[in-house]
Amino acid sequence: MEEDNYFDACVIGSGMAGLTTASLLAQQGLKVGVLEQNWLPGGCTSSYWRKGFVFESGATTLVGLERNMPLGYLTKKTGIEISAKKLALPMQVHLKNGTILNRYHNLEEWIKEAEAKFGKKNQRKFWELCFKISEFVWDTSLKQKMFPPEKMVDLINAAKNASLKQVKFIPYAFMSMKALLKKLDLLDNQYFVDFCNEQLLITAQNHIEEVNVLFGATALCYTNYPNYYVDGGLINLVNPFVDYIENKHGKVILRCGVEKISKKDGLYHIQTKKKGNFKCEYLISSIPVNNTLELLDFEAKPQFKKGLLESKRLNSAFQMGIGFQSDKKFDAIHHQLHLETPLPEVGSASIFISLSHETDTTRADEAGHKVASVSTHVHDPENNFIENKEKAENAVIDKLESLGFLKWEDIKYMHSSTPKAWHKWTRREFGFVGGYPQYMSIKPWQMLGARLDGQKAYLCGDTTYPGQGIPGATLSGIIAFEKLAKDHL
Ligand SMILES: Cc1cc2nc3c(=O)[nH]c(=O)nc-3n(C[C@H](O)[C@H](O)[C@H](O)COP(=O)(O)OP(=O)(O)OC[C@H]3O[C@@H](n4cnc5c(N)ncnc54)[C@H](O)[C@@H]3O)c2cc1C
Repeated sequence: MEEDNYFDACVIGSGMAGLTTASLLAQQGLKVGVLEQNWLPGGCTSSYWRKGFVFESGATTLVGLERNMPLGYLTKKTGIEISAKKLALPMQVHLKNGTILNRYHNLEEWIKEAEAKFGKKNQRKFWELCFKISEFVWDTSLKQKMFPPEKMVDLINAAKNASLKQVKFIPYAFMSMKALLKKLDLLDNQYFVDFCNEQLLITAQNHIEEVNVLFGATALCYTNYPNYYVDGGLINLVNPFVDYIENKHGKVILRCGVEKISKKDGLYHIQTKKKGNFKCEYLISSIPVNNTLELLDFEAKPQFKKGLLESKRLNSAFQMGIGFQSDKKFDAIHHQLHLETPLPEVGSASIFISLSHETDTTRADEAGHKVASVSTHVHDPENNFIENKEKAENAVIDKLESLGFLKWEDIKYMHSSTPKAWHKWTRREFGFVGGYPQYMSIKPWQMLGARLDGQKAYLCGDTTYPGQGIPGATLSGIIAFEKLAKDHL
């Protein structure tokens, strides 16, 4: 056996989930190899330079750096330092009728804004309840790090950390956001319903009918937690984790696509296309469960096959990176724009635009240039090809121009990507991104567990902690580590 190709633990994929588990294992003294097929780390949370601008690969908004949230917990535990600045105003939402909502971080300010723009009826009740639930979910998720329970040891752990309060909140897992809106007599407030639907789509990947109140309330309160910006793009959130792993004698190996994984003599054997073969005692797959099962030459636990979601229950993204000249001052860097008619070719009812921060001079080579990252959902990516990209691009730019974000003539460079590009960038089946959406038929405790084969292989990533973006992916990585550590270390 070539010593160089042996790691105590191999992590497949260097997205936020994989880097989380890898860092925690490295902290325990394990020699960790992270095998990444792309030429850059980070997967859906990354940034790349092109034609004088630094573009984001996917994620642009960032929450969860507080100590009771996943990234805050992780950075405190490992000592990894993230340089991020807090945004004064997390987001603006532009409704179809031209109304602009400021999504203030402060709950009281936000309730007043919601009452002013949607009418007073039950807004306070709705948001106070949502925030209470959201606080509960974040607090509980870090207390219940063996969730969902798969073994007796997880149940014992769950019971040890359980409280009466946790039991009190369980009914919200059975209630949809639509039912909550109905209960509070808010369903005939069409602008508010559209608002909830489009906001849920970016944080829970689904609409009011399919998102339970536990996750839905947490998703809607995303902007009521401090939101951050990282200079130079989110690759600078990822790089400190890569450095940490490498400083602890691990390796993050790029252009290292895994083709097949088998089991022999108590070790996992990993075949890659370009970087040879690897062996390890512990295996952690941080790629979607759909892709993971394709690689395995051995049986995973049956729950994984049963839990697979097909393309028509998934989303991908149509995305644009735009470099443009502008000296305009914006009140917020993140904006959701609701559309009067669905975006041609794509079919989505809203687009999301994130601007580079005005104090960040590292996103563009030339002073006075800014970057806009635009993304929108593409449902059922296997069957939605987006044949005429230009038509969708034109509609996006026209919308941005009509709202005063930029002018056609100020654009210096732009490019766009479809589900096909996502498949190429991340290898994710059908190019689906954003994780598994929330569905009412899947209760929180029915989420995919982390124990892949019941032995020394584990799974994390945004298919195991559905629809909550970077915080969810990070939490899934923490949970995979906790279960592995409890089982073996
Ligand atoms: C357009 C878009 C916008 C988003 N916006 C936000 C946002 O604003 N805020 C937020 O919090 N979240 C956002 N998200 C969601 C968030 O980015 C993801 O949920 C999260 O980054 C997923 O992390 P992950 O580690 O689970 O998966 P990934 O990021 O997909 O990481 C998996 C990694 O595995 C690699 N890989 C795949 N197959 C193999 C193989 N066979 N061998 C080796 N390596 C392999 C991939 O290249 C990839 O790097 C957005 C996502 C997208 C796509």
